[in-house]
Amino acid sequence: MKILWAPWRLNYVKNADKEKNSCFICKAFESDPAEDRNNLLLYRGKKALVILNKFPYNTGHLMVCPIRHTGDFLSLMPEELEEINFLIKKSIKALKRAYNPDGFNIGLNLGKVSGGSVDTHIHYHIVPRWQGDTNFMPIIGNAKVIPQSLDETYEILKRYWD
Ligand SMILES: [Zn+2]
Repeated sequence: MKILWAPWRLNYVKNADKEKNSCFICKAFESDPAEDRNNLLLYRGKKALVILNKFPYNTGHLMVCPIRHTGDFLSLMPEELEEINFLIKKSIKALKRAYNPDGFNIGLNLGKVSGGSVDTHIHYHIVPRWQGDTNFMPIIGNAKVIPQSLDETYEILKRYWD
């Protein structure tokens, strides 16, 4: 047997671990499901999950993510893509029933340069939009008054999820 000495690999793995430990998406998923409400984790799938954005652009701002910690879109497997799409659809359905928005912004920021705050774990933003809410969109910063508390939003969306 040939032994491959690859210390750089160990470093890579360590860094990946460190990065994962500080990832709020992974942290939420690896926590006790009893903590899901506190962690704003709305749904646990087999390959993907749905979590509320702690810093929402609008009431009901959800994120759909693969469970696997990756920022590399091209590494997503067909089963992951399939469940992500399924959960995007389910999110739209729940948001429509809960809030009856006029439209949605759904999107992905890949890489730091795209403006995403977390570029190590892929997350689709699902932002419900209402006619006239443009005045409040945080084009300049994060300062925005969200009319509903996250607790309340979680409660309502949980009810409409199933
Ligand atoms: Zn992660």
